[in-house]
Amino acid sequence: MNEPMVWSPKKIEDAWEIKQKYGSNARYISGGTWIQLRWESGEPVPRHLINLGNINEMSQIRLRTNGNGFSIIMGAASTLSACLNHPDIQKHWPIMVNALGGIASPAVRNQATIGGNLSFGYGDLIPALLVLDALVTWFDGKQYVTDKLINFLKNTNESSTLVSNLLTEILLPKAIVTTTFYKKIGRREAFSPSILTVAGTYKLNSNNEIDQPRLALGGGEELPHRLFLVEDMLQGQVPNDALWKRVHAKILELFEPCSDRFTSSQYRKEVAANLLIAGLSGSLV
Ligand SMILES: Cc1cc2nc3c(=O)[nH]c(=O)nc-3n(C[C@H](O)[C@H](O)[C@H](O)COP(=O)(O)OP(=O)(O)OC[C@H]3O[C@@H](n4cnc5c(N)ncnc54)[C@H](O)[C@@H]3O)c2cc1C
Repeated sequence: MNEPMVWSPKKIEDAWEIKQKYGSNARYISGGTWIQLRWESGEPVPRHLINLGNINEMSQIRLRTNGNGFSIIMGAASTLSACLNHPDIQKHWPIMVNALGGIASPAVRNQATIGGNLSFGYGDLIPALLVLDALVTWFDGKQYVTDKLINFLKNTNESSTLVSNLLTEILLPKAIVTTTFYKKIGRREAFSPSILTVAGTYKLNSNNEIDQPRLALGGGEELPHRLFLVEDMLQGQVPNDALWKRVHAKILELFEPCSDRFTSSQYRKEVAANLLIAGLSGSLV
């Protein structure tokens, strides 16, 4: 087999140019950990690999303050370990620490990147990023475009933003929430696709009513997504057992997960409803 050509541009614009030149024969590579798994399972290796690891600005993590508060900006090529160990992320985004710490092993996290986890579409970080209302920035050849992650993820076909664009940054606004939770259920510690990941946030207003609830699900072959209808049901409600019961029933009604060789759809559905209610009621450990 011919060895692929590995390009190591130092600028975002150059990486983009190389991708345009070789089109579907070229692929961005960040930590390479997911891509390697695909090759090992028989997927063809593209002729051109564009290594993003030498673009300095894509590996930086910085806190940005503005009039109303602050946000953290993570270069897409920042490793999962760098994000996990960053003091500001540890202090202000504990849900990220929980999610990052549950991905693979320390050795993989030293190589794998946040942009790579997001770009393959099923990463375990995505539900956490969705409930934190993350923004992403990508380069489209002329300019840097910033949009909500949820919009970026909308299309997963070949011509979608997710597949065709060069992701450069992920931004998390600081949220004032009273409850946050994240839980990943897998079959074993070492890598196998997670069965389910759930994440949620909400705050309580001065009347003890739920405000701005955000819930997300992912895992296995489930494309990570928000549960907007359940969120609508929670908005403005005072937490109590009767509410949790109604919400539990609604999740069972609405969530139609896929089955795989190991896990039935019904099992995933029940685990999802149980975990989300445990998270919302503050009893998820
Ligand atoms: C042993 C092992 C265990 C794992 N465990 C988990 C786990 O528990 N949970 C989990 O979610 N994942 C897991 N993975 C999958 C995956 O490797 C990691 O999630 C990792 O974060 C992917 O990052 P990467 O930088 O290595 O991506 P890469 O392999 O470099 O790239 C992944 C995809 O994203 C694209 N891409 C990368 N960066 C960009 C960019 N900046 N812009 C546009 N496209 C880009 C690539 O073209 C490719 O399609 C595991 C992998 C291994 C090998």
